[in-house]
Amino acid sequence: GPAIALRDVSRTYPGPPPVSALRASSLVVGRGEYVAVVGPSGSGKSTLLHLLGLLDRPSGGTYHLDGVDVAGLSENERAALRGRAIGFVFQAFHLLPHRTATENVELAMLYNGTPRAGRRARARQALDRVGLSHRLTALPTTLSGGEKQRVAVARALVNEPTLLLCDEPTGNLDTVTAGTVLDLVDGLHRDGLTIMVITHDDSVATRAGRKVMIRDGMLAEIAGDD
Ligand code: ADP
Ligand code: ADP
Repeated sequence: GPAIALRDVSRTYPGPPPVSALRASSLVVGRGEYVAVVGPSGSGKSTLLHLLGLLDRPSGGTYHLDGVDVAGLSENERAALRGRAIGFVFQAFHLLPHRTATENVELAMLYNGTPRAGRRARARQALDRVGLSHRLTALPTTLSGGEKQRVAVARALVNEPTLLLCDEPTGNLDTVTAGTVLDLVDGLHRDGLTIMVITHDDSVATRAGRKVMIRDGMLAEIAGDD
């Protein structure tokens, strides 16, 4: 089955006044797809990201992640599935400042039963995968913006998620550095990872194989021939 299946999903913030941030939206994303969601400010991108990332629950409709109907899960089960299945990359890198690159990546495995020695080895492998094997003991303040985002990508990958969810991943980077991070994401896609990027930046969206527009809380496919 698909990686993601949203059917008639809505999210209304109760207010007052109530806000229909997402309206009867459906979206099926196959395993290994690379999808960009583009839309202006206030269109519902964060709301969609929070639903996809199991940080929020729909007001209506169904969401299957890896075939699991997430509505049927308890809070703890949702958190466990989030940790196992989803890697997050944010605009703000969210690295702990007094921890090395390796320690920042290790933290993602702290509560999922990976033994201590295994955590260290897997963190190093993940950092190697993003081209940072020479920066293992660096503190975030000594890393460039692009290197920080690579550490964040390594942290997102270390639990081998099925889905990489990126929220404006290059929003804090200059154009050249953004390009290298997007090249890295392209490589992960070629390796078979399912990737969703939420962005208002068309130069980011064009990297994806498929573009979806969100406007006033409604999703629509954008023809892929441009
Ligand atoms: P985007 O990420 O595209 O800027 P959002 O998903 O943040 O869009 O917001 C979609 C709509 O929902 C907007 O009208 C916004 O004001 C509203 N909204 C977002 N979060 C809340 C909230 N917690 N309570 C009420 N309204 C909200
Ligand atoms: P922005 O894209 O505006 O910079 P952030 O990237 O900081 O915003 O965060 C986007 C949303 O994801 C926020 O609502 C935040 O609470 C949430 N978030 C940030 N970091 C994490 C994390 N490590 N795990 C789960 N949710 C997070």
